[in-house]
Amino acid sequence: MEKGRATDKVVAETVSEKTGILGGTFDPVHLGHISLAQDALEQIGLDRVIFIPAAQQPFKLDRKTASGEHRLEMLKLAVKDRRGFEISEYELQEKGISYTYLTMRAMRRLLGKDARLYFITGTDSFLKIEKWKNSSELLREFSYIIGTRPGYRQEELDECVSRIRDIYNTEILFLNNTQLDISSTEIRERLERGIPSGDLIPAEVERYITEHGLYRN
Ligand code: ATP
Ligand code: MG
Repeated sequence: MEKGRATDKVVAETVSEKTGILGGTFDPVHLGHISLAQDALEQIGLDRVIFIPAAQQPFKLDRKTASGEHRLEMLKLAVKDRRGFEISEYELQEKGISYTYLTMRAMRRLLGKDARLYFITGTDSFLKIEKWKNSSELLREFSYIIGTRPGYRQEELDECVSRIRDIYNTEILFLNNTQLDISSTEIRERLERGIPSGDLIPAEVERYITEHGLYRN
C-alpha cells in the first residue's frame, strides 16, 4: 500500500500591525514621554508609536502654550533616529480644539480597519478619560496602554479600570514602566526661573529652547 504523504497546510495568517498613539501637548516634550513610548513599544510589541501634538488641548484652553510649530520641532528633535517613533501633524493641521475621538477616527481611516490601535496614556490622563468628548466611542472602539506616573493612587486606578472594562468591555493593558517624575509644567517653571532643565529633556530639545528663547516669560 502506498504510503500517504503528509501535507503541511500553511494557513495564511494576516498579522495585523499594532500602532500606539501618544497624544499630548508636548510643551515641551520630555524624557517621561519618550520613556513611556519606548516601554510601550517594547513591552506590548508595537510596530510603531505615533506622537500627536494637540493644537489646543480641551482641558488647557486657559493656558498659553508654545506655538504648534515650536512644539512640533522639539518633538522632531526628540524622536529623530529612534526606531518605531513617528509624528503625526494631524491635530496641528486640523487646528482648533483637538478631540481625541476625531483623531482616532482619522487614524483608523489612515491605517485601515484591520490595524490594531492602542491609545497610550499616563495614569493622570487615563483617570480623566470618562470626561473626554465622546468618551463612550473612544472606550468602545479602541484599546489602551497605561503607563504609571509617580503620584497616582492604585485604588483609584483599579476602580476606574474595572468600571470601564465592565461598561465598555475595553481592552486595557498596563506597562511595567520606568517611573520618571517629570512634567512639562515643572520644566516650564524651571526654565522661567532660569534653572536649567537638567536631564529631564533631550539635549537637542534644550538647545532648541535656548536658541528660540522659549519659556522665558
Ligand atoms: P503638562 O504638565 O503641561 O500637562 P505633561 O508632562 O503632563 O505636561 P502632556 O503633554 O500633558 O505632558 O502628556 C502627554 C501624555 O504623556 C499624557 O498621557 C501623560 O499622562 C503622559 N506623560 C507625561 N509625562 C509622563 C511621565 N513622566 N510618565 C508617564 N507618562 C507621562
Ligand atoms: Mg499633562
